[in-house]
Amino acid sequence: MKTHPLYLNGEFVLSEKTISITNPGTGEVFAAMSTVDRARVAQAVKDAHAAFAGWRALTAKARGEFLHKIANELEQRRDEIARTITMENGKPFAQSQGEMALTIDHLRWFAEEGRRGYGRIIPHQTDGKRNLVVKTPIGVVAAISPWNFPLVLAVRKIAPAFAAGCPVILKPASATPLCAAAFAEACHAAKLPKGVFQMVCGSASEIAKEFLENPLVRKITFTGSTEVGQKLIEGAAKLVKPLSLELGGLAPVLIFDDADLDKAVDGALLAKFRNTGQSCIAANRIYVQRGIYDRFVKAFVDKTKETMKVGDGFEAGVQIGALIDENGIKKAIEHVEDAVKGGAKLLCGGKRVNRPGYFFEATVLTDVARDGLCMREETFAPIAAIAPFDTEAEGIELANSSPFGLSAYAFTRDLSRAFRLMESIESGMLGINDGLPTTSNAPFGGVKMSGWGRELGAEGLDSFLETKHVSIAL
Ligand code: NAP
Repeated sequence: MKTHPLYLNGEFVLSEKTISITNPGTGEVFAAMSTVDRARVAQAVKDAHAAFAGWRALTAKARGEFLHKIANELEQRRDEIARTITMENGKPFAQSQGEMALTIDHLRWFAEEGRRGYGRIIPHQTDGKRNLVVKTPIGVVAAISPWNFPLVLAVRKIAPAFAAGCPVILKPASATPLCAAAFAEACHAAKLPKGVFQMVCGSASEIAKEFLENPLVRKITFTGSTEVGQKLIEGAAKLVKPLSLELGGLAPVLIFDDADLDKAVDGALLAKFRNTGQSCIAANRIYVQRGIYDRFVKAFVDKTKETMKVGDGFEAGVQIGALIDENGIKKAIEHVEDAVKGGAKLLCGGKRVNRPGYFFEATVLTDVARDGLCMREETFAPIAAIAPFDTEAEGIELANSSPFGLSAYAFTRDLSRAFRLMESIESGMLGINDGLPTTSNAPFGGVKMSGWGRELGAEGLDSFLETKHVSIAL
């Protein structure tokens, strides 16, 4: 069994203390990952800070060329790293290949966008003075990423930070650090200057403490649960450390009577079951207008049974892979039992699959009570919870009746309604007749308890740039 090294100041470093990596498709440990203690994290921060001056001094074009080289390295190892993603995360191989493609696209998009980190010259309003706005890289960035999209969510932070001129220390999720290790290899092969990218693993709270308390770390960018995000907010208060937070969601889907039924079914299936339901933008609450309710439910259940094959990520035709661990299974069972107790009808699935690993059937529940657990808590499993509504106003109220606001979806052919939804739905992203609104060139992030700031798009670059006003007296 291979023990994977950390990547520290341009070197691959093994440690005595390791963490075990389990394949969720078998429940078996298949690799180990080296770890650091807090003192080693402090050294990594020092090394990143030392690398900062040289990295920021490069032109944006030269930094972009490094991003393209890293993308080339990943492209050459595309299927091999996709296999690693499936091994450590459990998702179907085709979806791991999709994660690789999006990762490469993020790198190439920010390679170019870095060249557009414009400041501006403001028309002056005081004689003899000129006012300029200058953008400068924020400094050493600490990135903490989750297990559900183990590579692409890390690169969504790293690519814009690099493009802006910032070194990055990444702490990936303990369950899925191996594709981050592969990313480190790609940086090494691309001859990225030492210290610009480093990867640490180990106790999350200890590593985060160093990130929070070390003044050389100028920004923490985090993707994960709202609970951990709240801890980081508390910890960041002392040094007033800037945070970007991509936290939990509870995405509503509104399907209106006038929707194109086929598009609505396909869009809702994608929004629900992609990544085995373990996505922060997963459709958690599917609200269907009464006039189309029965037709939608029938078509959705038929297609779920027909297409949502459950199995190991490497088996042909599998759409639903393994959940990440035993806790994922426990939560799925709890949500189904609670819904049924509250009066919901179980139309398909509902059980753990009887095989090694952590598999749960593709499940559809209808007439779910509005206060059911799956309408209030992130399910993070292949469980579709459907409930009816009557009017547009009621649909909007239901969609907004959550403290979270990451993504939302609506299916309608009425353009006026689409505009009303755009203006009234409380979310950072809204897919209209679109079950997958994520793309490199547009901002990604949430409102309310779903987080602070945006990744991707021009906003993604801006979150690693400081804005400075320069006033020049002539
Ligand atoms: P998590 O438990 O919050 O873990 C995320 C990361 O935070 C991991 O690297 C974890 O390390 C680390 N961590 C744990 N405790 C920490 C602490 N005290 N201080 C600092 N870091 C700490 O979340 P998860 O279970 O991996 O991911 C699922 C959650 O992420 C869901 O709520 C999902 O909605 C959210 N998410 C949001 C987005 C978005 O873009 N908004 C995207 C994907 C996922 P260890 O693994 O070592 O514990």
